[in-house]
Amino acid sequence: MATTKRALISVSDKTGIIDFAKGLQALGIEILSTGGTAKLFRDNDIPVVEVSDYTGFPEMLDGRVKTLHPKVHGGILGRRDLPEHVSAMQAQDIPNIDMVVVNLYPFEATVANPNCTLEDAIENIDIGGPAMVRSAAKNWKDVAVVTDASQYADVLRELQSTGGATSQATKFALSVAAFNRISNYDGAISDYLSSFNADGSRNPYPAQVNSRFVKLQDLRYGENPHQSAAFYRDTNPAPGSLVTAVQLQGKELSYNNIADADAAWEAVKSFDSTACVIVKHANPCGVALGKDALEAYSKAFQTDPTSAFGGIIAFNTTLDKAAAEAVSKQFVEVLIAPDYTAEALAIFSAKANVRVLKIALPEGGNTAWEQGRNSHDTKRIGSGLLIQTADNHEISVNDLKIVSKKQPTPEQLQDMLFAWRVAKYVKSNAIVFCGNSMTLGVGAGQMSRVDSTKIAAIKAQNAGLTLKNSVVASDAFFPFRDGIDVLAEAGAACVIHPGGSMRDEEVIAAADEHGLVMVVTGIRHFRH
Ligand code: 5GP
Repeated sequence: MATTKRALISVSDKTGIIDFAKGLQALGIEILSTGGTAKLFRDNDIPVVEVSDYTGFPEMLDGRVKTLHPKVHGGILGRRDLPEHVSAMQAQDIPNIDMVVVNLYPFEATVANPNCTLEDAIENIDIGGPAMVRSAAKNWKDVAVVTDASQYADVLRELQSTGGATSQATKFALSVAAFNRISNYDGAISDYLSSFNADGSRNPYPAQVNSRFVKLQDLRYGENPHQSAAFYRDTNPAPGSLVTAVQLQGKELSYNNIADADAAWEAVKSFDSTACVIVKHANPCGVALGKDALEAYSKAFQTDPTSAFGGIIAFNTTLDKAAAEAVSKQFVEVLIAPDYTAEALAIFSAKANVRVLKIALPEGGNTAWEQGRNSHDTKRIGSGLLIQTADNHEISVNDLKIVSKKQPTPEQLQDMLFAWRVAKYVKSNAIVFCGNSMTLGVGAGQMSRVDSTKIAAIKAQNAGLTLKNSVVASDAFFPFRDGIDVLAEAGAACVIHPGGSMRDEEVIAAADEHGLVMVVTGIRHFRH
């Protein structure tokens, strides 16, 4: 392995760079640096050669041109194994540069500031840094490229243990990381600039979308065992999203675990009071509010104990001993909560397979993002992508329009709002019977709304729950009166739905005929 003789260091974020440079200096490596970095080294008694002295060319144009010089790029790009390259470099007096340590102007942080102007953003597009990183990453067999402070310790350790060399494996890994960094950087620039129209107004759906994801883990298999799979997160995840979870114990998460855990977590964190959501195959099979975690869980479990077997259980509150004892009596695949008491964790530590996830709830703020809600929602189709704003619509009592002759009680209004919220997280066609802030029967994912209603009623009956005086939510309007007839027969007293069907009159008349309360929201919550 060739030893490192010369390193070029040019960093915007100077965290950790002094110790790293001192480490290089101790190994006898010559350091070249740009203005600000060189000054920092001189101030810390680290010998350094300014790139402008090295090239004989000053930094100019407000720093836009600092390292864009053949003596820099030739020194990085020249192949040490090709005699023609070696002799060309000698002829031009271009020494080798064996290591490049660069982090870029903070473009992402600059545009994250809401007061950032287009000019600020443009000035924070690094030109020479990415050029050096690309040169070094391309010539990875001869040049080590360090693009992040988190790499300093490992690189230095290897240099120290080999007397100044880096292995091919390390250089290749550094090169891949460098191209990833450049791709993210350019993607962020492209995303930002293309979020503007030519007249300066914002364009939420630009001509090109650069999807950038970071691998969290390989998965044992996909939705089925013959499919391979891996789990990625956004480069900049929303606070409180599932990808920020810490797994405290249990078996490795599977593909289906992750998808279902996301469904459960997104639903449970939408409630303001203590709630529990149990999910099976992406649909809630039990949702309830309670005075504490135990009560919320016990009620949610009652909805459908059969489906809850092997389910994903999410809480929006700290899981305590009493709730943990109750939960541990059933077979649970994944447990999610913002926190756990020590006693609760002790109960699960005896059940080594249970996957226990802890996700810090977002601290809150004015934007949906700060509140931990995704601003957009995407769906892959074959070779395509659908993007929409997320279904973050909320309603309150004042938004409800009572269309029936019969008026609701305040408790019925609260139960209808609860049922409406649950329906938003159930796949269409969704029919959700509720009472006393708990689900009583959930009909999900059916092609016919009448069938969903029948299934929800059957499920309530199977669980030994009565639908008498229940409220029922439907994610979309009733196209005919037949659905109303079925839910009235099942015992419902109130129904909440968007309204707006061509046959609304017929549907409202059916409600009046059955003596039902009917309220409409004017909003639909399809979920596919
Ligand atoms: P310094 O603080 O050392 O003056 O500047 C370090 C920053 O300059 C690094 O982020 C590096 O990527 C960037 N840089 C290095 N060479 C050039 C260049 O030729 N043009 C531009 N625009 N940036 C450069």
